[in-house]
Amino acid sequence: MEHFVWSRLFDDTERSAEKSAGILCPLGCGLFPLARRYGEAQAADCSLIMNQMEGRAGQTASAPPGGLGQTKKHPPRDSRFSQGFTSSHGIALQQQNISHLFTMLSLIRLPRVFTVHQVPKAFQEDSIISGYRHPRSSATDCILSLFQLTNETLNIWTHFLPTWYFLWKLLTVVLIQEVWHDAYTWPLLVFLLSCCVYPLASSCAHTFSTMSTTARHICFFFDYGAISFYSLGSAVTYSAYVMPDNWVNGTFHKYFVSVAVFNAVIATAMACYSRLGLPFLHYNRDTVKRFPETQSPRFGQLIRILSFALPYLFDNIPLFYRLLVCSGEGCTTNAANTLHYRHIALAFLTAFLCATHLPERLAPGRFDFIGHSHQLFHVSGIIGTHFQMQAIEVDMRQRRHWLLENSAPVALSGTFGAAALCLTLSLLIILLFSLSLLCWPARTTQRAQKTKARD
Ligand SMILES: [Zn+2]
Repeated sequence: MEHFVWSRLFDDTERSAEKSAGILCPLGCGLFPLARRYGEAQAADCSLIMNQMEGRAGQTASAPPGGLGQTKKHPPRDSRFSQGFTSSHGIALQQQNISHLFTMLSLIRLPRVFTVHQVPKAFQEDSIISGYRHPRSSATDCILSLFQLTNETLNIWTHFLPTWYFLWKLLTVVLIQEVWHDAYTWPLLVFLLSCCVYPLASSCAHTFSTMSTTARHICFFFDYGAISFYSLGSAVTYSAYVMPDNWVNGTFHKYFVSVAVFNAVIATAMACYSRLGLPFLHYNRDTVKRFPETQSPRFGQLIRILSFALPYLFDNIPLFYRLLVCSGEGCTTNAANTLHYRHIALAFLTAFLCATHLPERLAPGRFDFIGHSHQLFHVSGIIGTHFQMQAIEVDMRQRRHWLLENSAPVALSGTFGAAALCLTLSLLIILLFSLSLLCWPARTTQRAQKTKARD
């Protein structure tokens, strides 16, 4: 069966390459001309366009006559050109540099993409028909695929770019506010750190998940750990800035962060379990190679959704109470409430997209490259996080004096301590699930050798 799949994989590459080139050309002949067998043709096309562009711009340099690899010659340094030479020479140099860049890009051989029937089951996505990368891509191919339209490209970029936005926010807070002397800012730092970690882990997971089946599972174990860490980051800030006035210093408030750490660690374990079952006990050839979700897809998906929904619902109890239940005094009604509503609406939209796989379920194959649920899930999740951050900042600013007077002081254990504990335990869980996966081939070989010796 596997031979059949692989032979089909290589038989059909031509068609896939055609498809790939057809999709990528409009993306931009200019930006990322690709595909092995189309590399030269596309490079020539792009050279032509470059020449046309130069022709329109005019004037300073003639088009390279021989296409690839040829260097343009600048006009001779002559007294006739002395007037305005500096600017025209500068433009010519820029055009030459751009031309070289295009030539270099056109020589890069980007990997081919495949259809759903050409990749192993562990790599197949519900209702996504085409745009799959090679299931044994090299690290270089994975990185190159960032510049190629595959069904993962937007999954990567929709989390990679926001990572830098949140990192910029984090650095702004560290540099502008006196964070080392002002413990009141520590919860915000933990939250912003978690906002950098989870999109970064996600974009790395989506980038390198096609290196092998094992790599795919391990990449997403780290992705789940990062989402759990983000849930703890939210809880730490909610405890410090968002808790309604009449709950501050109550029993729920006292144990809120501790329970959130516990929930985050359990969430990591549950999400990792949802892929392959229990490490060392459930792992076997079928689960590792085929992914148990092919046997019980709904159960695996349900466990994973629950593993992220439960910590989210717990962390947001103070907010739900403050916005939806509380009335009268002590409910903390301020300008942050509108932003909290936006964040909650986007969080539910994110969960809806994750659970329903819409819109691709309605038209399989139509949204393979742009607009499928996982991309929308990333986008709505990130916008939700952005509103959440804004709401937290407003609460933090407006409630500062009241909280410093009435709430227990922010402690290292409830902020960086909780974050370190959560990260350590989550990483240990990920290590346990990953080690079992990495040891599996060795154990299987030993078992096979023993059986052979006995026979
Ligand atoms: Zn993702």
